[in-house]
Formats: sequence, C-alpha cells, structure tokens
Amino acid sequence: MSAGWLRACALVMIGLFSVSALAKDKQPTAIVIGGGLAGLTAAYELQNKGWGVTLLEARPDLGGRSGMATSEWIGNEKTQPVLNKYVSTFKLSTTPAPEFVRTPSYLIDGTYFTAADLATKQPATAEALKRYETTQDELARSIEDPQNPAATNALHALDQITVSNWLDRLQLPATARQLVNQQIRTHYDEPSRLSLLYFAQQNRVYRGISDRDLRASRLVGGSPVLAQAFVKQLKTIKTNSPVSAISQDKDGVTVKVGSVGYQADYVVLAVPLRALNKIQLTPALDAQHQAAIKGTNYGWRDQIMLKFKNPVWDSKARMSGEIYSNTGLGMMWIEPALKGGANVVINLSGDNARVMQAFGDKQMVDQVLIRLHAFYPQARGAFTGYEIRRYSTDPSTGGAYLAFGPGQISKFWRLWEKPLQRVAFAGEHTDTLYPGTLEGALRTGQRAASQVQDLAAGKSFEPAKVVPAATAAAAGAVAAKKGNFFTNLFGGSDDEKKPEPVKAPEPVAPPAPTPAPAPTPAPAPVEAPKPVAPVKAEPAKKTPTKASTKKPAAKAAVKKPTVKAPVKKVDPAKTPAAKPVTGTETKAQ
Ligand SMILES: Cc1cc2nc3c(=O)[nH]c(=O)nc-3n(C[C@H](O)[C@H](O)[C@H](O)COP(=O)(O)OP(=O)(O)OC[C@H]3O[C@@H](n4cnc5c(N)ncnc54)[C@H](O)[C@@H]3O)c2cc1C
Repeated sequence: MSAGWLRACALVMIGLFSVSALAKDKQPTAIVIGGGLAGLTAAYELQNKGWGVTLLEARPDLGGRSGMATSEWIGNEKTQPVLNKYVSTFKLSTTPAPEFVRTPSYLIDGTYFTAADLATKQPATAEALKRYETTQDELARSIEDPQNPAATNALHALDQITVSNWLDRLQLPATARQLVNQQIRTHYDEPSRLSLLYFAQQNRVYRGISDRDLRASRLVGGSPVLAQAFVKQLKTIKTNSPVSAISQDKDGVTVKVGSVGYQADYVVLAVPLRALNKIQLTPALDAQHQAAIKGTNYGWRDQIMLKFKNPVWDSKARMSGEIYSNTGLGMMWIEPALKGGANVVINLSGDNARVMQAFGDKQMVDQVLIRLHAFYPQARGAFTGYEIRRYSTDPSTGGAYLAFGPGQISKFWRLWEKPLQRVAFAGEHTDTLYPGTLEGALRTGQRAASQVQDLAAGKSFEPAKVVPAATAAAAGAVAAKKGNFFTNLFGGSDDEKKPEPVKAPEPVAPPAPTPAPAPTPAPAPVEAPKPVAPVKAEPAKKTPTKASTKKPAAKAAVKKPTVKAPVKKVDPAKTPAAKPVTGTETKAQ
C-alpha cells in the first residue's frame, strides 16, 4: 500500500472522528410547549441535564392551572413523593394542615352536620354513606394493578358502565345519594359521565391512604411558589407565545408562534387536550390520537368565592373546611378569615357547572347567593362581593382536568405516554396514576424529559402494553374473589359458596349500559340549581381565584380559596436556546 494512500485513509479517519466528536459535543436542544407544572418540570429536568431548552407559554404568566391558586393542601412524602421532592429541592416552606381540613362535613337542607353529628342525628343517611364507602372499597379492591385497570373481561366491562349506573344499584336513600353525587362530581365529574372503571382505578390508587397523609401541609404562599421556583431556574422562557404549529422531520422540529419559528431537536408538548386540538402537527396525528383529543372527557368545575363581612353561617353552626351540600350549592369550602370577614368558595361541578354556563357571572353569583341566603338570612346584608373562575369553559383546558368517560379507558389508556417521533407528551392528562393533580403533572414532566433524553440516545418507544383480558383472567378472578364485587355488581351467585372461575371468564354483560356521553354536551340538569329572583347585592371586583378540594375523601391535596397571585412575569428578552427562524411555512389554525 502506498504512503499516499495510507495518508489519505488517515485523513478520512481523522475527519470522520472529528465530525462524530462534534456531533457528540453539540448541545441537544428542546422546546417545551406549555408553562404549567408539567412543562416547567420537563424544562427544568432537561436543562439540568445540559440541554438547551426554550419554554413557550401562551399566557402572560406561568404555572397554568396551578398558578391560579395561592394556596392548597399538599400530601406528605408518602402520598406525593415527586411534589415533596421539589418542595425540598427548592427549599420551599410549608405549614402543617389544621385539623378542620381533614374530615368533610355536610349541609343537608340548610342544617350543618359534622360526620359525628350525622351518625347520631341522621343515622339512615350516615349508614347509607358507610354502605357506599364499603362498596366503593370493594370496587377499588377489584383492581389488581392500577396501571392496567382493564386486565380482565369483567374489569373491561366496568369501562362500559357509568358510575351512576352502579350507584343506582346501591339504592341509597335520597339524601345520601345526593351527597355521594356531590362528592363524585366535585372530585371528577357528573357520575353519569364517568367510566366506572376509571372511578374504580382512582379509588384503587388512593386506597388505604388517609386524609391526614393527603392533606398534610400547605405551601406558604400557595402553589404559585412552586411554579415560581421552577421559573427562577429556567434560562429561556417566552410568555405570550401561543404555539400554532409543530412540524417534525428526520433532522429536528420547527415550532411556530405566529410567524416566528423555533427549531430544536425535540419537543415536549405539555398542553391540555383541548389546547392540543388547536395546534397543527405535521405529520398529522393518527385517528386514535385525534379521537382522544376530541373525545376524552374532562371534569367540569367552576368556583365562586362569596365574601361576607362576617361568617353569617356561625349563627347556626361553626362551619369550616370542606362541606358537601345536598342542594345545588355543590361543595363549599369555608375557612376562618385571617383579617375579619369571611369567605365561602362554592364549587359547582359536573352538570351543575354545565347548567350554570347559561348564566352570566353576576347572575350565577345571584343564583348561588339566593340559596345560601335561604339558609342564612343574614347573608344578604353581609355580602360584600365575589370572585369567580370558570375552569370549565377556559379554552386552554376545556374542563378542570381529565375524567375518563365510559368506554374511554378501553380506547385511550396510556395513549399519550408514548412519544411520537420527536415529540413527547406531558401534562396531568398523560399520567396513569394521578391525573388531575399537581403530583400527576410533575410526574409527567419528569417522564417526558427522560423520554426525550432516551430518544436522543437512539431509543425507540413501543406503545404501552395493556395486558389482554384473556391472559389476565386469573388476576381478575383473584380480585373478584377478594371483594365479591363482581358477583354483587352483576347479580351473580354468592362468592362464599361458588368461587369465581379462574380461567378465561365469559365476557360479562354490564347491567343497562349507559351510552358514552359527548365530552362537552349540552347541559343536562342533575339537581341543578333553579333560577331564582336575584338578591340585591353589589358584586365587588371580579378577579380569578382558585380554591378547591379534589378527589375522594382519601385523595389529592386540597386547595383553599385565595386571591390569584400571578407567577412572576418572565423577561421575554431572555435569549432563546432554540434558534428562532422566521418565514417558515405555517398553517396556523
Ligand atoms: C378547579 C381545580 C381544582 C384542582 N384541585 C387540585 C388539588 O386540590 N390538588 C391537586 O394536586 N391538583 C388539583 N388540580 C389539578 C392541578 O391544578 C393540575 O393537574 C395541574 O396544575 C395541571 O398542570 P399541567 O401542567 O398538566 O397543565 P396546565 O397547568 O393547564 O398547563 C398547561 C399550560 O399550557 C399552556 N398552553 C395551552 N396552549 C398552549 C399553546 N398553544 N402554546 C403554548 N402554551 C399553551 C396553558 O396556558 C398552560 O399554562 C385542580 C385543578 C382545577 C382546575
């Protein structure tokens, strides 16, 4: 071999080596779309791993749904490990939850009952609620693995049934049923719009967890401080940047905000499904993803904070904490006011919220005030104003949070967990275990960040595997045996005498299946408040607020009423890590 040939080969090798070294050294880049907690987490985690990250947020402020509240209850490390990890990473202060937030109480036809009162003064209602809780627990126990709720034919059948279908079979007395309905619609959505399998799966996730663990403390300054802590760490944030299109090819991704384009290697898409519907993707999503975007049910929940000079309800009983009303008042949240005055937050959920969409803000407040006034006649004189937030019709969410309707687990389970080429998905709606919570949002931000890193490392993602019903028959039989739930539900024989078959159970015909309702259908009143002639009272300034409790008695952290304190506005002049390009072709919708 000639010396010239050898030299040429060596030069080629050196050239190749330096190209690959260059490629290795090039900083990987990502665009995160959506500045809620999911997007903020993804951006933070990627930046920590040395990525150049640009976060694009449509609104002028950050924090998304969490940024709308100033205070809420958070669970301890056992129940919300990811949330607690960030609380300690960012050295955020917390304050322990007072006793009164731990147990819900009731307002029945205007009379206030603690749980203990109910047992002595309304034993039939108390007993029925207990019966409901026992059956609810059996239902939860029927799920062996909450990551794979439709593991058996029998469990799969639960997805075709609505929660109200199941409640009908319990034949609860009227008041107990009203209270149960109120609890379920507050935590998820109207029982008639919820998949029984989703309800079972969520109850399984939170089974055995006490309210004490779930409402352990409160962030000083409320949940916006968590979003702010992430924001402080991030180098490149663009607010007022609604993304209209994402196109990806083999080399990278271009994201359009109006006529401005941003390029990066990967994208984390952390916006709710209704917002995703407004973003044009190239290549387009397949039919299943598009059906999920259009069809996945979101719970409806609106909140009205009524302000009073003094706690008018104290004339009858000292109400505090989370109170379920059997009337159209929904779930109320009352907390002693710090500086005199008293606030009550009315959570109108499910079909009550849908019906109330027909009313303007002032009318809606009047309707609620009238009902409160009927129980507490001093309410009229003491009323000073209101704040209102309609989550249900917010175009960026189109509902409060994910709440699978009948048939939807079968169609869309874990769909958004898998990246599509260069796009990974995040957001509470993409979490398997804790949708509709801060914990869920944070978890998905972490997951999407690590998926993007995996993609960059050459890993490909297979669709999440759902164990087929037939192969998981044994697990279902075990579950059925334990709880005797299916025999009760489907009217089968007594489990004690005739154990459930262990092999391949026959597909079970659900009792009177309820057709899956459309995600945002026309109002269908369920104990809906009826319009009443308004009480004369002048509303104070209208400011968005967020306060709530959510999920079953044993479920996620609780939010309390407070005035919105927007997360710090970010300097739009910060240099983008992703290279802006202009003039790229776009088809904004
Ligand atoms: C009434 C109510 C009560 C709740 N109570 C609790 C509770 O007690 N405990 C609890 O843990 N959780 C609770 N949650 C749920 C919790 O707030 C959410 O799960 C969480 O905040 C969702 O975070 P996310 O990042 O997934 O979505 P979001 O916070 O909605 O973030 C998405 C972001 O994307 C942005 N965006 C949308 N479209 C675009 C676009 N085209 N371009 C750029 N940006 C875009 C939006 O503006 C938004 O900032 C409650 C929620 C509601 C509504």
